[in-house]
Amino acid sequence: MRLHEYQSKEIFTEHNIPIPRGRLASTHEDARLVAEELAGPVVLKAQVLMGGRGKAGGICLVKSPEEADEEASKILGRRINDIAVRRLLIEEAINILQEIYFSMAIDRETCETVMIASAEGGMNIEEVARSTPEKITRVGVNSLLGLRDFQARNLAAEIEIPRQLWRPFISLAKNLYNAFLKYDATLAEINPLVITAEQHLVALDGKIIIDDNALFRHPVFVDKRDISFEAPEETEARKFGLSYIKLDGNIGCLVNGAGLAMATLDIIKHKGGKPANFLDIGGGASSDKVAAALRIILGDPQVEKVLINIFGGITRCDAVANGIQLALEEIQTQVPFVVRMAGTHHAEASRILSGSNIQTTTTLEEAADMVVNIKSAATT
Ligand code: GDP
Ligand code: MN
Repeated sequence: MRLHEYQSKEIFTEHNIPIPRGRLASTHEDARLVAEELAGPVVLKAQVLMGGRGKAGGICLVKSPEEADEEASKILGRRINDIAVRRLLIEEAINILQEIYFSMAIDRETCETVMIASAEGGMNIEEVARSTPEKITRVGVNSLLGLRDFQARNLAAEIEIPRQLWRPFISLAKNLYNAFLKYDATLAEINPLVITAEQHLVALDGKIIIDDNALFRHPVFVDKRDISFEAPEETEARKFGLSYIKLDGNIGCLVNGAGLAMATLDIIKHKGGKPANFLDIGGGASSDKVAAALRIILGDPQVEKVLINIFGGITRCDAVANGIQLALEEIQTQVPFVVRMAGTHHAEASRILSGSNIQTTTTLEEAADMVVNIKSAATT
C-alpha cells in the first residue's frame, strides 16, 4: 500500500526526520489560512498517488496567502493524470541548494535492505538512473547488524555531501531505516532530500510503500487507504480477499492457490496462449467469492475465453462450480469456458457445470490445450 506524501511525512516526524512546516488543506480558504500561518512563500502540493507530480503540474510555488487561495482553487478538483485532487499539502517554501535522492528499499537478490542515494536527486532521477547509473550508489544493510554509522558516512562521502552535514545525514539515515523497519515498508524514499541555504537537511518529499502482507500490523493505514488511483477491479478483488493482477492477454484465469495460478499462466504461455490476468481465489473459497472473481474476469473487455483451474483440497470443487453458476446466471456471457477440476467433489462439480459453453477436463495440460485452441465467441 502506497502512502500519501503527508502520511509519509507524519512517519518522518515521528522518527525525527526534518520536514518543512506545513499542513493539509482541502479548500482554497483553508489553503489561504495555512499560508497566513506560515507567513512567507509556500508550496502547494497535490496529494495524489502518482510519480512525477511536479512535472504534471501538481506542485506550485506561491508568494502570498492571496495567491495560495487563487492557485488552490485552480488545483483542487482538477484531475492530474486522471486522479482528482482533493487535498493539498501546504508547506513553507524551502531555499534549495542541492537536491539529493535517498531511499531504503529491499534488494530481493541479497535479501537485505539497501540504501540508495544520488547527488543528483529531484524530478529527473529516472533519467539519471537510465543514462548515468554510476551516479547512483547502493549500500546493503545486514539485517542482523542493522545500519552502521560507517555505512551511512561512506555513503555521504560517496555522494559528496558536505562534511559538516555527515553527522545529521547519519542520524537521518538511521531514522529512516528505523521507520522502514517499523512500518514493514518495501520502500521509504526521500526525493528530494535537500540541502537548504541554511545548511540543513530537509525531507522535501516522501514516499513510503507498506508491504500489503504486513498491513494487518498497521491497521491505522488500512482505514485511510486511498483507492482513487487504483484500477476498480483491483479494489473489488481486495474487497473479496482475492489476489488479482491484470495482464495483457485474452485468456481469463481463475485458480486456487498462488503457485498453481503461476503454473497455470506458465502452461498457457507454453501452449502459445496469452493470460489476461493472475487470479488466486485462495483456499476454501466460497461460492460468493468465486462469483466475484468471475465477475472481475468477465468485466475485462479483453477476455475472450476463460480457464478455471481448481485443485480441490480444502476448496471444494462443487462450491466453486456453484459460484461459477451463480455468476453466469447474472452475467450472461458468450465467452467459452474450460474448467479443469480435480480433487474434492469434482464429479459433483462436473455435473453442476454441464452447460454448452463449458468444457471440462481433469488434467491441466489438456485444459491448457483446450483453452488455447478453443474459438472465442468473437471469432465464431
Ligand atoms: P514530485 O514531482 O511528485 O516528486 O514532487 P516533489 O515534492 O519531489 O517536488 C518536485 C520538485 O518541486 C522538487 O524536486 C523541487 O525542485 C520543487 N520544490 C518542491 N518544494 C519546493 C520548495 O519548497 N522550494 C523550491 N524552491 N522548490 C521546491
Ligand atoms: Mn519527489
